[in-house]
Amino acid sequence: MSTTRHELLHAFDLLLAPGRFKDYGPNGLQVEGRTVVRKIVSGVTASRALIEAAIESDADAIFVHHGLFWRGQDGRVTGWMKQRLGLLLGRDINLFAYHLPLDAHPELGNNAQLGLKLGLVAHTGPGGRFGEQELGFIGTQEGGGSFDSARTLATHVESVLKRPVTLVDAAQRPIRNIAWCTGGAQGYFEAAIAAGADAFITGEISEPQAHYAREMGVAFLACGHHATERYGAPAVAGHVAAQLGLTHEFIDIDNPA
Ligand SMILES: [Zn+2]
Repeated sequence: MSTTRHELLHAFDLLLAPGRFKDYGPNGLQVEGRTVVRKIVSGVTASRALIEAAIESDADAIFVHHGLFWRGQDGRVTGWMKQRLGLLLGRDINLFAYHLPLDAHPELGNNAQLGLKLGLVAHTGPGGRFGEQELGFIGTQEGGGSFDSARTLATHVESVLKRPVTLVDAAQRPIRNIAWCTGGAQGYFEAAIAAGADAFITGEISEPQAHYAREMGVAFLACGHHATERYGAPAVAGHVAAQLGLTHEFIDIDNPA
């Protein structure tokens, strides 16, 4: 089965509603390729390694969370940008990228899918969201229990994500309310504290968050930008591929960050 680039863009836009977000780059079709699409490769980032793997696997379209274009870039097509664009344009492959809309989708997005992996359930209604543009999720362990410490929660996350976690173990109490936001969402920590979290799970930590954690008595877990954002792209691309009868493959290009 096949579809057109136009139909595919329409399906992604309908699902992810990019118009609702103020974002750091363009969402949707970032690089126009061939008209007919049979196979989608999904991945976290439109890196050269992912583009090469997609070419190898005969993809007509790539679907990612981190595309090529961001606010603040100087716009020159040199170095890595020349390499990546050259591969895409030379092979006539479409690049679709959705950033915040992919974090936010209530069932298939990065935050929803990370919650599912970790066995965390957001509170129902508006109380289950926090932070700018309501991107952050807050809830409890499935079944409503508590982790007996932040270390127990960190060990659980490490076993699911199969990587070490940087833990600022500042909450000397059982962990019941858990806030999470995938990727580079360390800036959401204060909003998570204000929302009543006992612990905050995200991808990265910067210097100030260690102090906020200690001073406010809320645990901070940095679990990897890539590791926390691996689940939304294949969920969305797989869903849309099934809807349109296309082939889909997720290719994970490992990243220690
Ligand atoms: Zn990210």
